[in-house]
This record gives sequence, C-alpha cells and structure tokens, in this order.
Amino acid sequence: MDTLRSMREKVLEITLRAYGEGLFAGTSGNLSMCDDSRKLVAITPSGVRYETMTADDIMVIDMDGAIVAGPHKPSSEWRMHTMILRARPDVGSVVHTHSPYATSFAVVGSAVPPILIEMVGFLGGDIPVADFEMPGSAELGAGALKSLEKRHACLLSNHGVIAIGKNIDQALIRAEYVEDAAKIYSLSLQAGKARLVPDEPLRKMKAKFGIRD
Ligand SMILES: [Zn+2]
Repeated sequence: MDTLRSMREKVLEITLRAYGEGLFAGTSGNLSMCDDSRKLVAITPSGVRYETMTADDIMVIDMDGAIVAGPHKPSSEWRMHTMILRARPDVGSVVHTHSPYATSFAVVGSAVPPILIEMVGFLGGDIPVADFEMPGSAELGAGALKSLEKRHACLLSNHGVIAIGKNIDQALIRAEYVEDAAKIYSLSLQAGKARLVPDEPLRKMKAKFGIRD
C-alpha cells in the first residue's frame, strides 16, 4: 500500500474512533499526521460528516496548506496543525477535540491541576490553558505551541483541546486522557475539596519522565 493511502486510512480510523468516543460532535474536531519526510500531512476535511467519511475524504496537504490529494478543503485549523508539526520535529500527529469535560475548563479558563499521578506520564503534568485566539488563525497555533513546550496537551480558551504525539495513536491516547482527567477533576470538585498530587512524588515522576519544570 502506498504511503498516502495508508496515512489517509490511519487518520480515518483514529478519527472515527475519537468521534465514537464523543471527543467531538457534528463536524468539529480535526486530526492530522505527517509522513516520515515531514513534508506531507494527512488531515481531516472541512465540513464532512463523520458518519459517511471514507479514507478518500481525508485530505493530503503540504506544510504550506497546498492540496496534494483529496476532493475537499482541508480542516479550517490546518494552519495550527502545520505550525505545530513544523516547529516540533518530535511530533508526528496533532489531535484537536472539543471533548466536553476538558472544554468546560477551557470555558472557565482554569487549568486542570495535577490531581492524578498518571497525568505526568500521559500529559507531562497539568493541563494548561492557552490564551484565546481566533479559530483557524496562525495565532491559535502559536499560542498552543507555547503551552505545549513542556506538556503533551493543552486547552484552548473557549474552544477545546490539543494533544500531540510522536504518532496519531499516541496523540489520541493523550486526547482521551485529557478528557478522563478533566472528568475526574470535575467530579472531584463536586465531591469535595480536590487534593493535588503531593509535591515530592510529582517531582520524582517528572524526573522519571524527563520533564523539566
Ligand atoms: Zn475546534
């Protein structure tokens, strides 16, 4: 199977899994992965319903957004995706969701603090909130990049979630874990006073995963 075909099929598979998990609704959410040469990006199309989406609907663009293959427009967030992929050679995939528990913290403008020790391994620690920027803008990508310097995922103010990974499987797991942590934090706030992971074990875990902050 040629590379473009396998990339488009992989993006479709992960997109449908994320949609099935309720990480986004309607035609929102967008996912991308780049090829080994880091020149081509397979990305979800703009305005196509997930129920009927096939691998042929997945767009392939270059790092400047020019269409290489596919019958649609690429996701309106292609600038944010290519900006992150260009700036971060360690990142091969970007997953953007509007998952409801996490996005509720993006709406109130509150980071999800380190409440679970596993957040260090999956996400690099807490889930920070990037400042508000217009959807589709390069500024949205720049803001996300800043928040992702020491983290594997962040919230976009009044918008949603960005998770990155070396590949699309890892980026999806991180996006899923963002929603899981946000859900547990939300429930813990209703159950009582949420306690954070104590400083010492948090520091040890960060050292174990090579996270510098
Ligand atoms: Zn969005």
